[in-house]
Amino acid sequence: NGRNLVSYFCNESDTQQRVVAAQLLMLSALQDALQRNEFFVEYQPICDLQNDKVVGLEALIRWRKADGSIVPPDQFIPVAEQSRLIVYIGRWVIEQVCRDLPRLQAAGLPDIQVHVNMAAPEFLDDDLPRELMAIVEAAGVDPARICLELTEGVIMRRIEKTLPIMQELVRLGFEISLDDFGMGYSSLSLLKTLPISSIKIDRVFLQGVPHNRNDCAIVRTIIDLGLNMQLRIIAEGVESAAQLGFLRQFDCTQVQGYLSGRPMELHSLLAQHGELSAN
Ligand code: C2E
Ligand code: CA
Ligand code: CA
Ligand code: CA
Repeated sequence: NGRNLVSYFCNESDTQQRVVAAQLLMLSALQDALQRNEFFVEYQPICDLQNDKVVGLEALIRWRKADGSIVPPDQFIPVAEQSRLIVYIGRWVIEQVCRDLPRLQAAGLPDIQVHVNMAAPEFLDDDLPRELMAIVEAAGVDPARICLELTEGVIMRRIEKTLPIMQELVRLGFEISLDDFGMGYSSLSLLKTLPISSIKIDRVFLQGVPHNRNDCAIVRTIIDLGLNMQLRIIAEGVESAAQLGFLRQFDCTQVQGYLSGRPMELHSLLAQHGELSAN
């Protein structure tokens, strides 16, 4: 809308103007990227600590620009979230995951679950459950093979809207995981109301394990709480054997991090999944 844009620019300071202009440029570049099929997904293994097997994969989007350089999601997802574009990007990710899932299953991972990150604007739309169902059905994928990752921020943006959408998704057979647990503001009250099956402990808490007493206490407590609530607990950002040892000692369910495997494209994953384990 040309008119709104002009009035907006006039009311902002110089730096803000430049930020807005940069975001508009980025948005139009992202729109082109979607059309030119420049996005791709990498999968990072999630390993179960009972049997050391890969039980899940987190789908992480990347953008390969025409010049071959790769842009990480932190550099474009927050901008895409400012507009409807994130909804189209999100749909593209789910569709790609549904194309890849049958290949993963055929390659000897029949029960693998793929985790997909969801952004706030996607979760304010009542049509989301129906649209996701249409996508998985068209691909012949069981919704139970898809776990949607949501942060507290996404859920709390408008809880009265997001909660019924979550409940409908679970009724349809999707699973939901609470991402970046501990970073939000109302974690505990959320836990008792949400239809979730797992929580992911944010990487910042793992960074201090096992040398920082407070981080250790927080991680142990989250694991305990989750286990008592019959939730799976996935520790993120596990990079060292010492961290893994600590998590095993306190019965954490699953781990994800560079120790078990970096995010990788489908072909590399298929080539080496036989050798992947927690450590
Ligand atoms: P996230 O959901 O918390 O994803 C985990 C991030 O931690 C990923 O960064 C992953 O590469 C990184 N990571 C995993 N293990 C380790 C480790 O051991 N050490 C360290 N230092 N990092 C580790 P990535 O791929 O750059 O993604 C960043 C964020 O971008 C994600 O954070 C998520 O919020 C967002 N994102 C990624 N893909 C999508 C998507 O398809 N849709 C949406 N809406 N957001 C996405
Ligand atoms: Ca995530
Ligand atoms: Ca996370
Ligand atoms: Ca994070």
